Amino acid sequence: MAEGIVTDRREISSGIGIGVKEADAVDPFADALARHGLSLVRDRVHTLQVNAGYLCNLRCRHCHLEAGPGRKEIMSRETMEAVVSFARRFPFRVLDVTGGAPELVPDLPFLVEGLAPLAPRLMLRTNLSAVSGAACESFLALCVSHRVVLVASFPSTDPSQADAQRGAGVTEAAIAVLKKLNAAGYGVEGTGLELDLVSNPVGAFLPMPQDSAEREFRNDLLRKWGVAFNRLHTFANVPLGRFRAGLLRTENYDRYMKTLTDAFNPSAVEGLMCRTLLSVSWDGFLYDCDFNLAADRPYGDRKVHVSDIRKLPPPGAPIATGDYCYACTAGSGFT
Ligand code: SF4
Repeated sequence: MAEGIVTDRREISSGIGIGVKEADAVDPFADALARHGLSLVRDRVHTLQVNAGYLCNLRCRHCHLEAGPGRKEIMSRETMEAVVSFARRFPFRVLDVTGGAPELVPDLPFLVEGLAPLAPRLMLRTNLSAVSGAACESFLALCVSHRVVLVASFPSTDPSQADAQRGAGVTEAAIAVLKKLNAAGYGVEGTGLELDLVSNPVGAFLPMPQDSAEREFRNDLLRKWGVAFNRLHTFANVPLGRFRAGLLRTENYDRYMKTLTDAFNPSAVEGLMCRTLLSVSWDGFLYDCDFNLAADRPYGDRKVHVSDIRKLPPPGAPIATGDYCYACTAGSGFT
């Protein structure tokens, strides 16, 4: 086995959802790496991802965190202060706020205002439907004033497909918000306000290649709704949380894992996001990535609070992996 690989556990015990056996048919991810003479170890860390909580207005079928309207886990002001202090101590190039729906976290403005001066790029993930009316206007004003890069989930330009994944009427609400974002300059050339979209498949199959998907989305969004954006990212659904539960319930788990393992692309390993990113949970603990957070596998295999970190993981440090990592290395990969 190549040095630096953390051996897969054969059981995930998720603190936020189901605890289930991994499928026996799947080769451990570490073995797939080793067969190609690879190890998954850290490069220099330059990105801090901040999960503001699991509260969301939607209950998307593919959500690896099982976010939803009933979730109570949201980042407190105290944890935000610890996160901001951490980002001040270390030179991150990118700060990336995600959820759930971060817009629903009451102290989000405090977090954004604290993080914005600390890195050249502050990103915020949005599902485009969490806030409406006055709340949407103030969210937009906050993002414009801090030049926040918005990364919006938008699974499909076919409303019936997207609504099947996210809920009835969600696409219509998302389009209304995209139009507001364009009117404010987001996604419009020359404004410097970046609006990127993220699309994941609406079922248990691999995403379209990114370039052709981006062309298709650009044409469709412009033609159907007059909406513009900067870049589209396509990612495979990660078999964790609600998506995993659905695969198991419909007896599609093994088939989907075979799809992912068959599409294993060794050249995607070098650019995996976990090599350069640290993820902090809503309660302030560190993980190698948001998927390891969903699988309850903390950074360094023990829970370390952001306020207790004195140095970033050095290049060569190991990364915890699981079978779900195959979603990151399928096709062009999840970088
Ligand atoms: S899930 Fe993806 S990002 Fe996370 S450790 Fe595995 S390969 Fe890296």
